Amino acid sequence: MTFQSLGLIVPISKAITKEGYTQPTPIQAEAIPEILKGRDLIGCAQTGTGKTAAFSIPILQLLSEDTENSRQKRAIKCLIVTPTRELAIQIGESISTYGAYTNLKSTVIFGGVNQTSQVKALRNGVDILVATPGRLLDLMNQKIISLRDISIFVLDEADRMLDMGFIHDIKKLLAVLPAKKQSLFFSATMPPPIVKLSAGILKNPVKVEV
Ligand code: AMP
Repeated sequence: MTFQSLGLIVPISKAITKEGYTQPTPIQAEAIPEILKGRDLIGCAQTGTGKTAAFSIPILQLLSEDTENSRQKRAIKCLIVTPTRELAIQIGESISTYGAYTNLKSTVIFGGVNQTSQVKALRNGVDILVATPGRLLDLMNQKIISLRDISIFVLDEADRMLDMGFIHDIKKLLAVLPAKKQSLFFSATMPPPIVKLSAGILKNPVKVEV
């Protein structure tokens, strides 16, 4: 399996080559084609498997094609929720790297810091938002963030969300996300509450385990 055979658009394959990646990792080889088809997906994968690129790369491709076809206004079309600030920053950096040659804009929001610079970035317009649950709900309550245009939703490290007590926040979030969307769900382990949560989010998902 090569990145060439995944049918990636030039701006993205160029960024991958520049990163020095020669071959997709197993989760990337399995997940990228399914996500590009628009399928919902459940991925059982730890950090270090290349899971961030496994969802970031196809999301960038889907949104680039979308934006080209319809010249849509800049609005948050993809929301990625992850439990910690460190993970959020890491995902944001990956998206900037793989999306460097696309026209898409992304930003990262998390708690524990003043919201001013995050709000400024949001007001400038973003296509992809990476967020931790608390700050996300806070800015939604302040009407600074609208999730009305979300077409892709990613829940990252779902089991850690549960351990950290974010499950209630996630349920609140799910209640306001548009019903029609592609959902991607990642968790290193699948205890019963996580299986139940995934069943409430995903429609006919492909399962990828690595
Ligand atoms: P992740 O599991 O997403 O945290 O990724 C783990 C590390 O693997 C990151 O530092 C990535 O830059 C790197 N990585 C991801 N995909 C590839 C690939 N196809 N080839 C080489 N390194 C990769």
